Amino acid sequence: MFLTISTTGTPERPATDLGFLLHKHPDNAQAFSTSYGKAHVLYPEAGVDRCTAALLLEVDAVALVRRGKGRGGAPDAALAQYVNDRPYAASSLLAVALSAVFSSAMRGVCAAKPELPAQQRPLRIEVPALPARGGAGLVRALFEPLGWTVSAEPVPLDAEFPQWGDSRYVSLVLESESLTVAEALRHLYVLLPVLDDAKHYWVSSDEVDKLLRAGEGWLSDHPEQKLITSRYLSRRWSLTRQAMERLELVRLAEADDSAVEEIDNAVDAEAETEERPTPLAVLRREAILTALTQAGAARVLDLGCGQGQLVQALLKEPRFTEIVGVDVSVRALTIASRRLKLDRMGERQASRVRLVQGSLAYTDARLKGYDAAVLSEVIEHLDLPRLPALEYAVFGSARPRTVVVTTPNVEYNVRWESLPAGHVRHGDHRFEWTREEFRGWAAAVAERHGYDVGFVPVGPDDPEVGPPTQMAVFTLGGATEKEAKAA
Ligand code: SAH
Repeated sequence: MFLTISTTGTPERPATDLGFLLHKHPDNAQAFSTSYGKAHVLYPEAGVDRCTAALLLEVDAVALVRRGKGRGGAPDAALAQYVNDRPYAASSLLAVALSAVFSSAMRGVCAAKPELPAQQRPLRIEVPALPARGGAGLVRALFEPLGWTVSAEPVPLDAEFPQWGDSRYVSLVLESESLTVAEALRHLYVLLPVLDDAKHYWVSSDEVDKLLRAGEGWLSDHPEQKLITSRYLSRRWSLTRQAMERLELVRLAEADDSAVEEIDNAVDAEAETEERPTPLAVLRREAILTALTQAGAARVLDLGCGQGQLVQALLKEPRFTEIVGVDVSVRALTIASRRLKLDRMGERQASRVRLVQGSLAYTDARLKGYDAAVLSEVIEHLDLPRLPALEYAVFGSARPRTVVVTTPNVEYNVRWESLPAGHVRHGDHRFEWTREEFRGWAAAVAERHGYDVGFVPVGPDDPEVGPPTQMAVFTLGGATEKEAKAA
């Protein structure tokens, strides 16, 4: 499978600048190993007037299967794992090769000639065999809004037998005068897999980050944003929703118009048709609300509140009279504040809630004197050596009567379909604990600071590996509380 990128030039702006932009010298043919086979970059032509770079990917179908991407499926699918269009058609594999081979170019970096990446130049991209689920019409709908002139010719199934009709592949030619090479590469990186609509690797939450990075500057106002997002993320509704929400926030940051909830609801409504269990995040919030209610807490800290989903749920319950969300990330707090519509809240509601920036690795006088503190999916974001500092700040210094801590149960990871073996659930998790490790830590913390601790499973409690989320509820012991007051 291959694609070519061509540009034209003048003596002042030679076409061979393409070599600088792609960080690949036009005189050399270079090969790169990727996990799916070998990628070659070569220049069929390289002159001042016209220069063409070709990316050719030799897919190793056996390596593809060995990497475990053929897991599951019907027995008769076994052959299809080896014999399929992967080696010939421009698919998500080509997109992965693009990002591997042209990563600096995609980011628009060129140390040798820093002025080049920002320049728009005449570009022509050819992809001779592009699987186009959705047909030539969709190909146009995806590329035209981005400034491309599109030609997408259906490829006949067999030129010798026109009566067989067309294949599902098109021969694609894109032309533009108004784009940079980095933009062009980022369009391809996202839209090739979208047209392929059959991602070859497990989609995890960092795919959302990749999509948003590659989509920066064009995806947030693309008319087909929803289709692009959903297909790119292999129709995983929770990730799609996350991406749509973040894209919407990008747009909001520019337009300052609040439609986050509408987007949420729109994606939700679509998801209703799928059969799906209650999302774990919802179960977690319900479990936390139950624990706080049982503890009779009214004034609550949400430590590491992130984008404010729990704060929002707490606000809906009048029993919680004071809610403070704390996070180290200003960005998270900005999103939380938009979610809560803090600036448009009535005075009464507003008096119940506050968002403050702070780090849990330091003691903080503002956190003293609350009934309860929640650490929902937070401890695993700290490097293990920082954990004693958090422990002291919360249990030693702030010392609320109740502390609720949730964290992933790593044993359960084998039950996540989408998680490759040995991976954590989120790129930023510094550790994930077994039930025994978590209980060991919690018991030691309780002991050191005079709390009692109990454990509650969250999500389906699997007989072998336990629940997906583990929750500990700490309660300040009576005697210690008096000692603490006396001290
Ligand atoms: N509680 C939320 C968010 C969990 S993500 C939920 O359950 O969905 C973890 C959050 O912890 C992030 O928002 C991150 O910014 C925050 N965090 C990580 N380290 C922190 C620290 N040292 N102090 C305060 N917040 C921290």
